[in-house]
Amino acid sequence: MNDIKLALLGSEGAGKSAVLVRFLTKRFIGEYASNANSLYRKRLSIEGRLLNLEVFDPCSQSGKSRCILEEPMEWADGFIVVYNIIDRMSFLNAQNILCQIKEARSEGCKGEIDKMDTPVCLVGNKQDLSHARHVCEEEGRVLALEHRCHFQEVSAAEDYLEIFNLFTKLIRHVMEH
Ligand code: GDP
Repeated sequence: MNDIKLALLGSEGAGKSAVLVRFLTKRFIGEYASNANSLYRKRLSIEGRLLNLEVFDPCSQSGKSRCILEEPMEWADGFIVVYNIIDRMSFLNAQNILCQIKEARSEGCKGEIDKMDTPVCLVGNKQDLSHARHVCEEEGRVLALEHRCHFQEVSAAEDYLEIFNLFTKLIRHVMEH
């Protein structure tokens, strides 16, 4: 059986826990007490392969608390970087996090050709609030292109299928990596 480790990164309030809980339970939990680092486990089958999925949901990563980031950077096989489309600061923080992933993942790999091949999905959450958006979809797409990662806007409040698809796409990428 394959073990797959994913980490959710992003600003506090971006909706990381809501996205994860939606994936795990199909439900939207409006207020979720996520003031501690949490590790979730789920068994699932993708393309006939049974997988042990572990997802790390750290309590928060503001731009300053970089030390919190180091542990998942080492540990995870793939990353979901979440920002809130109505919060520009969370988008700027997502940019920082993508750069930090790139830095962390290229260390110790000099001479190898492409180390930003790390499976990453950039997620613009709270799409249901798009009437109040401060980050347009195109900006998310361009940022993802720059970092050669997947991109998706979702609403943890309204979507299950989109969120299920983004996790499975990322897991497939990890399996091929
Ligand atoms: P985290 O700190 O990144 O884990 O964020 P949470 O998952 O705790 O979500 C922060 C707040 O945003 C909570 O009040 C959630 O109910 C709310 N929230 C999360 N996702 C969505 C969404 O897609 N739409 C809306 N309208 N609210 C959301």
